[in-house]
Amino acid sequence: MTFTDNTEFTYANLIIDISHEKVDRPFQYKIPDRLKGRIDVGSCVKIPFGKGNTIRTGYVVELTDKPQYAPDKLKEIADLSEDEVSSDMIMVRLAAWIHRRYGSTMINALRTVLPVRKKTAGLKHKYVLLKTDERQARDFYANCVKKHQVARARLLEKLLEDPKERIPYEFITGKLNVTGAVIKALSDMGIVQVEEESYYRNPVNSTSSEKKNIILSAEQQNIVDSVISDFDRGDKGTYLIHGITGSGKTQVYIEMIDKIIERGKQAIVLIPEIALTYQTLMRFYRHFGDRVSVMNSSLSAGEKYDQAKRAKEGDIDIIIGPRSALFTPFPNVGLIIIDEEHETSYKSETMPKYHARDVAIELSKLVPGGASVVLGSATPSLESYYRAQNGEYKLFELNERLTGGTLPEVEVADLRDELRSGNRSIFSRALQERLEETLSSGHQAMLFINRRGLAGFVSCRACGYVFKCPHCDVSMSEHRGGMLVCHYCGHTQPVSRICPECGSKYVSAFRAGTQQIEKEVYKFFPKARVLRMDADTTRTKGSYEKILSSFASEEADILVGTQMIVKGHDFPNVTLVGVLAADMSLNAADYRAGERTFQLLTQAAGRAGRGKYPGHVVIQSYQPDNYSIVCSKNQDYKAFYEEEISYRSLLKYPPTAHMLAIQIWAMDEDFGKEKANYLRAVIERMRIEGAIIIGPASAAISKINDIYRMVIYVKHENIDCLIEMKDAIAFELDDFEKKGELSRLQVQFDFDPVQGF
Ligand code: ADP
Ligand code: ZN
Ligand code: ZN
Repeated sequence: MTFTDNTEFTYANLIIDISHEKVDRPFQYKIPDRLKGRIDVGSCVKIPFGKGNTIRTGYVVELTDKPQYAPDKLKEIADLSEDEVSSDMIMVRLAAWIHRRYGSTMINALRTVLPVRKKTAGLKHKYVLLKTDERQARDFYANCVKKHQVARARLLEKLLEDPKERIPYEFITGKLNVTGAVIKALSDMGIVQVEEESYYRNPVNSTSSEKKNIILSAEQQNIVDSVISDFDRGDKGTYLIHGITGSGKTQVYIEMIDKIIERGKQAIVLIPEIALTYQTLMRFYRHFGDRVSVMNSSLSAGEKYDQAKRAKEGDIDIIIGPRSALFTPFPNVGLIIIDEEHETSYKSETMPKYHARDVAIELSKLVPGGASVVLGSATPSLESYYRAQNGEYKLFELNERLTGGTLPEVEVADLRDELRSGNRSIFSRALQERLEETLSSGHQAMLFINRRGLAGFVSCRACGYVFKCPHCDVSMSEHRGGMLVCHYCGHTQPVSRICPECGSKYVSAFRAGTQQIEKEVYKFFPKARVLRMDADTTRTKGSYEKILSSFASEEADILVGTQMIVKGHDFPNVTLVGVLAADMSLNAADYRAGERTFQLLTQAAGRAGRGKYPGHVVIQSYQPDNYSIVCSKNQDYKAFYEEEISYRSLLKYPPTAHMLAIQIWAMDEDFGKEKANYLRAVIERMRIEGAIIIGPASAAISKINDIYRMVIYVKHENIDCLIEMKDAIAFELDDFEKKGELSRLQVQFDFDPVQGF
């Protein structure tokens, strides 16, 4: 692996101790002639250190021609360490790749991959377990069911699944939607007990770790066999499993990991959000016992460091966690799994803006012997499916649902028809009927509107003027009490009933916010009990859990909310999901809007009918013929993919080409514009054939907190051409820094962005 023509360089910057505090101050050494050309970033070297010149080990993080001090004051590298590849070395190399591929400094890249060495004050981790014996608990449970105390029943049911196990507190208040008050009540009655511990232990008793004997279906077995036989032949590929929720992907992961561990290797499993996937975690714990560890966001920095140490020393074989779990320093990774690989949380939103998928594939090449990478999703990202179509990844399909339950029936309501036939309500007639039905049969409904901010905007019907925040250039929403509020910076001003542009009186709010939906529900169904979940009702700590918990306890009939209600929650009594205006995400100013809408609608549809009763979904739209809507109605991923990929390739959007967003922030708009234009000229001058340069233009949100935001987009089929441009701009930025201009300007790179800017 060579990043640079390394025969040229005279000096090497290296870090001696692999730890966060030290990476900021690399030491510089001279490369002796006999080692020139043999040392590269990531090389492990022996160096004389300190007054006594004791020989220590260092890792090269940069090669350079620029001496830090007078060259005769610099010591020489003593030797190249030819030891086995260590996990530290792999991480330094991975950092070098991230630095080169995504921009940002080498130090930032190192900070991304290396664990923090820090002792932090002990956090307390809480667990809940049964205090009474099992029989008593069962009686109590039966009593709760009889009295319709659903929250209590839910907690006991969970605890009784395995009466010897303890359950993490956050899981109960999070995914299980049981409030702290309920736990307290049961604890006061002596039914349960809350335990506190200052260190994080696996929630499963190691004694209860048992392997359930599940016989894989032929399709599942085929996936495991293909991946493992490739692995044994030395062919470490990337695989994509396309399979709906409940089709047995997780079981496939577990069996593969078994086989990989038998071969003396370790596995990394990435999942998007720990809180939402606890059931999955418990399955891993049960199967692998103490050999698995979880990178939980509730861990302190010190605990995370300890986890890394355990991985390094071979105490564990499997780590499960968010994207940063990729940087677990295992000696011998053999398998990397990315579940729900389409999720945007796999892309870092801070510099370096890396994507876990690409970093995983790079890591799989760096580890000794190579590793296999397995991606899984019900709605694969266009990127992965495209690569699978091109033969870069191997594609597997799991089409059967193993969990039972029927898929919901989806209907699309054409809002244009509704208006034509005189229905001016936010609810189509189809939705009204379904709501009526759901309420009268004692079931629950979820109504969701995708996107806030845009929802409640106030405009003039005569001239089209939209009230926007003077600081952020986003439309403000009207709230109760006649105030306009900015959702970015919180700016508030009274609503004017006269248009400042044309003076007309036809100023009003676009009635499609969560509050309007709530009002409308009361108008149609005055007796319905409604809960609302949006940015306003979840501002205080714990309010999010409280709303979900009370909905899960059936204290309300209808939950109204933004997209935060569609993710991962299981409400068995929900039989109706209404998507009020699918157009809102469809019309977002972002090339991924169609993909996002398809994923969101598919996910929303998955909320209905998860229990015993069949589910219904009503999608309302002004564009019912749009393929994202039609394909999600038909639950036809392939048809969606075909339409979407032809649009992307026509306009040269990822994945058919690559895109680099050069994001520019400046306090002074003119200064920012001038520099942005200058940077555009820099890349134009490179005359790279096939490059499409767009902008500079104002970002979608052109100003936040009085800082102007501009962006230049460059598209090219070859990622290396974009990397070259990124390097050219980074070179200019060094120059800006010398002139002291970087205090007034900030520039960041985002390759193949997944979020609008
Ligand atoms: P996914 O990860 O695709 O959502 P899971 O692996 O969680 O699917 O499987 C869904 C359910 O089916 C789980 O309860 C799992 O234990 C069960 N399951 C998976 N594979 C099999 C199998 N071969 N035989 C029986 N049950 C299975
Ligand atoms: Zn007007
Ligand atoms: Zn604002």
